[in-house]
Amino acid sequence: MKTARHGAHLIQLTKYPLAFPMNCFLVEEDDGLTLVDSTMSSPAEDVVALVKQLGKELRRVALTHAHGDHVGGVSGVRQRFPGVEVSIGERDAPILAGDKTVLTTEPQTKIKGYFVKVDWKPDRLLKPGDRVGSLEVLPSAGHTPGHVSFLDVRDRSLIAGDAFQTRAGIAVSGDLRPLFPFPAMATWNKQTALASAVALRGVGPSLLAVGHGDALSDPASAMDRAIERARRAFG
Ligand SMILES: [Zn+2]
Repeated sequence: MKTARHGAHLIQLTKYPLAFPMNCFLVEEDDGLTLVDSTMSSPAEDVVALVKQLGKELRRVALTHAHGDHVGGVSGVRQRFPGVEVSIGERDAPILAGDKTVLTTEPQTKIKGYFVKVDWKPDRLLKPGDRVGSLEVLPSAGHTPGHVSFLDVRDRSLIAGDAFQTRAGIAVSGDLRPLFPFPAMATWNKQTALASAVALRGVGPSLLAVGHGDALSDPASAMDRAIERARRAFG
């Protein structure tokens, strides 16, 4: 696993950086660490090693959405850190539990992507505006109906999950990049994803960290480019 530090509080861990990059993140807090996402299968060994190196306790796991390449590692992490609080957006909780029914109030497109059967339940369901340590929960539906992003209020770094990708070129969820098409192929509703991308751009992030690809600092113009591209692609 490859690691990279971004600013004062954020460490990115990348599994399979060359073949199929999947990111999870450690966020440093005064009381310990928050893990955001967990990659596909148990990354517990890598996370344990890094947590030990940092000399802090792992307190929380916060999930951007229910796809298997983000939640698959939670089981191993929970075994290694039994007191850890696991949270996910409230609308993605039933999807995580296997119910992929679209609500009557939602756009009637199919919930897509890779899911794993999980042997745990989230301890906490997140609503927009909630806080997980220093991370503010921002709604960012589209990739999945309950996708959330996390804004660190200390330095405005944004962990956007799959609302954007940067691998194979920056793109809004649903805008297919042929060299890394998987996030687009797993997107539930493109128009909703585009509206969320505009909203995330609007919070003025200092850094954009995503599920697949490198983080970008001062991402405003890159996010604008991606939004324009998506507008053209989605029609
Ligand atoms: Zn995803």
